[in-house]
Amino acid sequence: MRIGLDIGGTKIDAVLLRDDLTIASRVRVPTGKGPRAVVASAERAVHDVVASTGGSVASVVASIGAGIPGMVDAERGRVRHAVNLDVTDLALADELSARVGVPVHVENDVKAASLGAYHLLSLTGSAALLNLGTGVAAGIVLDGRLWRGPGGGAGEVGHIPIEPGGAICGCGQRGCIETLASGSAVARLWPSHAEHPAVELFDAADAGDERARTVRRTVAQAVASGIRVLALTVDVETVVLAGGLSHLGDRLRRSVTEVLEDWGDESAFLASLSLPSRVRMLPPELAAAAVGAALVGIPDATEGRQVRAAPVGDDATRASVGAPVDAPR
Ligand SMILES: [Zn+2]
Repeated sequence: MRIGLDIGGTKIDAVLLRDDLTIASRVRVPTGKGPRAVVASAERAVHDVVASTGGSVASVVASIGAGIPGMVDAERGRVRHAVNLDVTDLALADELSARVGVPVHVENDVKAASLGAYHLLSLTGSAALLNLGTGVAAGIVLDGRLWRGPGGGAGEVGHIPIEPGGAICGCGQRGCIETLASGSAVARLWPSHAEHPAVELFDAADAGDERARTVRRTVAQAVASGIRVLALTVDVETVVLAGGLSHLGDRLRRSVTEVLEDWGDESAFLASLSLPSRVRMLPPELAAAAVGAALVGIPDATEGRQVRAAPVGDDATRASVGAPVDAPR
């Protein structure tokens, strides 16, 4: 079996995957801050997720994959600038592997999630996962193979500017997709003390508040721009929306497809691409990032061959996941 770890800012989502990609067990442990605490938390997650099997890590687990935010050197298993984890530079693969005695692979969390979503949603051909979290980034999977690009920069569509003279982005440019389509963008465009500002925004827009409708349209246009970029550059057949804003579910999908349909009314070229039909939402209960991280350790999953995926709602998966868990981010 293989372990996948989704190392987030507050918790680690860990899954133990059988060879048929069904989940044998899933646990969550709090994430410590700083490099040493991150490695210690990951080690605990590995032991906890294996505990239900009654075996030892070395006897049960063939490989471990860890998805983590920040700049990841997948080849060396290093992560840099994982700001939310207080990590500036960590040789995560070497340090975790030395503690648990199993090979460890490391991948950027959004890229890992794209691979996980591809298999969990039984996608085929080419697909992208567009993560709408604090920031915006995509992971691209072509024929079952994660496409990183030589520098790991493939899919960084959040930093494509779409609004000349717009707000300054964390990357130093102005008007990036990320400044309009992220959780932090919603917080800026719709200041609110609500626990879920995006939900409050959509509620207000539904109730007829004109300013809320304008902001919702702006956010939806930026998300649609990300989808258009992915379709026009790599011609992905499916774009899966994930991350915090995707928890709006069908409400977000409707707003975004409305924009794409309006663009299609103005452009026969765009209409011919059938962009609205390419959009899917990532069900929040799916452990896409953790499952994808586990797949990073399987050569077949990253070298172009299909691995048999457990379909969504598969009984084995549902039964073993157990009680609903809160959304990954
Ligand atoms: Zn930017």
